[in-house]
Amino acid sequence: MTTTSANTPTRNESRRIAVIGAGPAGLMAADKMSLAGYQVDVFDTMPSVARKFLLAGIGGMNITHAEDYDTLITRYGSAQTALKPILDELPPLALREWIHELGVDTFVGSSQRVFPTDMKAAPLLRKWLQRMRSNGVTFHPRHRWTGWQNNAPSEGWVFTSPKGEHIHQFDGVVLALGGASWARLGSDGAWCQPMKSAGIDVAPLKPSNCGFDVPWSDFIRERFAGTPLKNIAVSITTPNGEHWYRKGEFVISDYGIEGSLIYAISAPLRDLIEIKKSDSSNNTSAEFLLDWLPHLSKEQIQKKLEQPRKGMSFANVLRKKLNLPAITNAMLKECCPHLDNNDTAALAAAIKAMPIRPTTTRPIDEVISSAGGVTFNAVNNDLMLNQLPGVFVAGEMIDWEAPTGGYLLTACFATGKRAGEGLVRWLSTMA
Ligand SMILES: Cc1cc2nc3c(=O)[nH]c(=O)nc-3n(C[C@H](O)[C@H](O)[C@H](O)COP(=O)(O)OP(=O)(O)OC[C@H]3O[C@@H](n4cnc5c(N)ncnc54)[C@H](O)[C@@H]3O)c2cc1C
Repeated sequence: MTTTSANTPTRNESRRIAVIGAGPAGLMAADKMSLAGYQVDVFDTMPSVARKFLLAGIGGMNITHAEDYDTLITRYGSAQTALKPILDELPPLALREWIHELGVDTFVGSSQRVFPTDMKAAPLLRKWLQRMRSNGVTFHPRHRWTGWQNNAPSEGWVFTSPKGEHIHQFDGVVLALGGASWARLGSDGAWCQPMKSAGIDVAPLKPSNCGFDVPWSDFIRERFAGTPLKNIAVSITTPNGEHWYRKGEFVISDYGIEGSLIYAISAPLRDLIEIKKSDSSNNTSAEFLLDWLPHLSKEQIQKKLEQPRKGMSFANVLRKKLNLPAITNAMLKECCPHLDNNDTAALAAAIKAMPIRPTTTRPIDEVISSAGGVTFNAVNNDLMLNQLPGVFVAGEMIDWEAPTGGYLLTACFATGKRAGEGLVRWLSTMA
């Protein structure tokens, strides 16, 4: 039984409210509902909550982004119209204030990414869970939701736990089951099956922010796997004909390519590969172009290549005249096999736009996030499923994607807030 103090709202225990999925989106929904005075039960399949959130904190958790808000919204691509009103209610500045209220400071890094001061997720999570527990949120770890009794949501929610199968009835539910990467942390996308069986529109889950396979030669693999390519840029023409040019860095791996710049173009690159695979007569090229020297024009590069070579090998010309690493020569040979080392115009053009042709995305389980999920057509403005009144969705299980840079967590928190507050609004209309 929860006690009431001046700071804790009176518990509304007459309603059974559940959150299923205790990642950042589900926890935000639970927090908002408990702050509104509701008793909330949070179920998760894992032995402890927010495992992916904690993993995100290991490499330095990038919780949001400090760029201009109008630019930030564009990072959500085709989902930006649907997400904007939701993000408007928890924009990056408000999200940072919310973190500060929990007693954790944030700072803006040189790339305008925002981090908690200690770069970790654990201290923030600890304080957040403490607050929720003191507001009467109850956690049920090792409870896996498997679907509805007889496939009929009205007949009850089925969970398995170490104690066996349980069937629960709820007055309202927020589902925040995540995407389909890193299944060992709980997010395996298995929820798609019962949702689709219930007639809910779910777009296929696909890898996002992912690496790609490139059929490198043994030479590249053996000599250069693990080599970072720094101060470079890439460009890609998206399936809608937009031209993207991004600076940054990525890594040559034994299977192909990975790293932040590849993640940034992963959505159009994945879509181009899919188009090409589904229509072999289509001559769309699933390729992107690598600019080895973004700070120099083609003409400037050509001029440097035309200087007397004085018997230097071509590899040395690239190194000494253009300051390019050994891998450039190897990759030019591999990606532009017909290039003539004496044709300075063609060489300069290849250095500014060397084609790389990935064949497949890496398996979804190993990627940072997934695209696809419950479509915005399947929900109302409060993220309640049109077909299941009282059931709301939040986080990565909704059909949006964004690059790394804090945009993922920003939208997970904002959709969690919207779904939790939406459920409170919905319950108030049912009183
Ligand atoms: C290595 C890595 C680093 C990342 N770094 C960042 C970063 O720095 N910044 C950023 O913005 N994003 C980052 N992300 C992405 C971010 O962690 C996710 O987008 C975010 O955690 C998604 O939140 P969510 O609440 O929607 O889902 P999740 O965090 O995936 O949580 C879903 C929860 O649902 C539970 N669940 C699933 N199915 C069931 C079921 N059937 N029954 C019961 N429970 C279930 C899972 O156990 C899980 O706890 C990173 C991801 C990875 C993998």
